[in-house]
Amino acid sequence: MNAEIIAVGSELLLGQIANTNAKFISSQLSELGINVYYHTVVGDNPKRLVQAIEIAEKRADLIIFSGGLGPTKDDLTKETIAKHLGRGMKEDLEAMNMIEAFFAKRNRPMTANNRKQALVIEGSEVLANENGMAPGMFIPLENSIVILLPGPPKELEPMFQFEAKPKLAKLVSDGGLIVSHVLRFYGIGEAELEDRVQHIIDQQTNPTIAPLAGDGEVTLRITAKAASEEEAWSLITPTRTELLEIVGDYLYGVNDDSLSSKLVNMLIENDLKISAAESLTAGLFQSELAAIQGVSQVLQGGMVTYTEEMKINQLGVPKEIIDQYSVVSAECAASMAINIKEKFNADIGVSLTGAAGPGKHADQPVGTVWIGIAFRDDEPLTFELNLQGMRNTNRLRSVKTAIYRLIQ
Ligand code: ATP
Ligand code: MG
Repeated sequence: MNAEIIAVGSELLLGQIANTNAKFISSQLSELGINVYYHTVVGDNPKRLVQAIEIAEKRADLIIFSGGLGPTKDDLTKETIAKHLGRGMKEDLEAMNMIEAFFAKRNRPMTANNRKQALVIEGSEVLANENGMAPGMFIPLENSIVILLPGPPKELEPMFQFEAKPKLAKLVSDGGLIVSHVLRFYGIGEAELEDRVQHIIDQQTNPTIAPLAGDGEVTLRITAKAASEEEAWSLITPTRTELLEIVGDYLYGVNDDSLSSKLVNMLIENDLKISAAESLTAGLFQSELAAIQGVSQVLQGGMVTYTEEMKINQLGVPKEIIDQYSVVSAECAASMAINIKEKFNADIGVSLTGAAGPGKHADQPVGTVWIGIAFRDDEPLTFELNLQGMRNTNRLRSVKTAIYRLIQ
């Protein structure tokens, strides 16, 4: 099954909001092993919407619309599609009840245009909206499926997950089920990883393997269709083994794991306290860890020492080290890591110092970053990064690399 997502809304074209609905739906469809070949964005304009539908009908057998189901004048997705399909609209009793209850609860009178929201295209299976008023629609056609979802993400996401996705899962699995398993990698580029496992990806039909990259991380999603959970795993496991024989060195987690969650949990399990001295990342390392529940058991705190003066006066890095090697150096990173570990009474001290860009720093090329890790009384470890990205990408990449080094 090949899908196209059509997001309707002039605000998307005007750059006022990002098309996060398409991103969400795509990632959900990939879990079902459904390929998404096109994302289309079209304004609130019936003529152009029809044009977009006509193109999509030629190249997709699943078309999912987002937006334009509301009560206002510019919300015309439903009407336009009904007309295009040559179908009428009928009031859905359940939707009407939900809308009436919505107004009764708020003690507000219902206006005529709110009745419009209970109208659904004839022949559609109604998708309940638990977080708003406009119901969604699942319309099986002769050779394809059309799905209409409301625009607000807090309505669209649960509706897709709990109402539409099970229907699709049933269709693609021929009555069986779908199991997917995600492998998460760091420290290897998308191109290199794909290149090394491409022959396995090409061989597979069940399970399928879908690579995805973002924020310096790469994932491989293995999706199996089978009659039972057990059968699905018997398909996934050998493929997983085959992939990990090649790129297993870069694996850091599976499924919903993140680099930070891995680190925090590892520290909790080993009862280790951590602290950080941050220069170019200015607290981002600690902020990433703090996003994980349970972090208070392991994160002691840390310091942002941005200037040379603060590195010397507050953190206690010897001035001679900076004079001799500069602040962007292994020596400075090592000293920062040891000192923060001591000052904050931690088992592990981490330091990040570097030139985030765009300007040079301490005569170091842009993107040069040194990470220091001091563990108890061990000799501190230092790592050099040569990053190519923009300023904030470099800062985030530095943090992720530091975390990755810590969990290895
Ligand atoms: P409503 O009943 O709220 O009007 P609707 O189904 O008519 O819902 P729209 O009017 O198209 O949807 O969009 C409502 C809001 O939903 C937008 O202002 C925007 O904040 C959000 N939204 C719409 N489309 C998208 C999208 N593709 N990605 C992310 N957010 C979106
Ligand atoms: Mg609207």
